[in-house]
Amino acid sequence: MPEIHRITYLGQSGFYIETSESQLLIDPSNKKSGDLEGDLVYCTHNHFDHIGGVKTFLNRNSNAILVGNEQVARKFSRFGEQMKIVSDGETYEHKSCSLSFTKLEHGFLKGTYNLAVEVHIGDFTFAHCGDAVSFTGFPTSTVDVLAIPISGAFAANPKKALDMILNLPDPLPTIVPMHWLLRSPEGFCQTLLNARPDVNCIIPATGEPLKGFV
Ligand SMILES: [Zn+2]
Repeated sequence: MPEIHRITYLGQSGFYIETSESQLLIDPSNKKSGDLEGDLVYCTHNHFDHIGGVKTFLNRNSNAILVGNEQVARKFSRFGEQMKIVSDGETYEHKSCSLSFTKLEHGFLKGTYNLAVEVHIGDFTFAHCGDAVSFTGFPTSTVDVLAIPISGAFAANPKKALDMILNLPDPLPTIVPMHWLLRSPEGFCQTLLNARPDVNCIIPATGEPLKGFV
């Protein structure tokens, strides 16, 4: 069974997950966050701040695959067989991890296909909402860590994110606010802790591993 080793925050909505057998990249916003070793990159949707590191990553890791919905695939058609297209309700098996996908409405630019992901690594699950503004049906399982946007406009604002979290069944997952833009992750975690002092809310630092989630 694969084990989770480390999750590193890369800024904006980017995360780098290292397991005992694999390195997975999610929503790399720029070249720097794509300049990593790995075997899979997943993009929730095709906006520049979620795909900016894909080219760098695929060029560096010639055996790696890009997983994404049809809009993401259209941007990266030149990568041919390295591209795996997925859609709402599907599960994609990668080595002994699996990724499952749920379509969640994007904020501004409503035509954008935003496909949230749950990454299952052994008995550990990391969930990432992309730029969701509503969360119906997500996550589909109990998750250990939930990365949730708080910027407003393109994605959920802090109040919507908070409502979503407080409506999840107990025990609540570790929460990681992301995609802050002008919002304060400190303020968000404080408001959450005022409502639920038992929750672990991690304010991630760019380039650093999340601490205290396992
Ligand atoms: Zn977006």
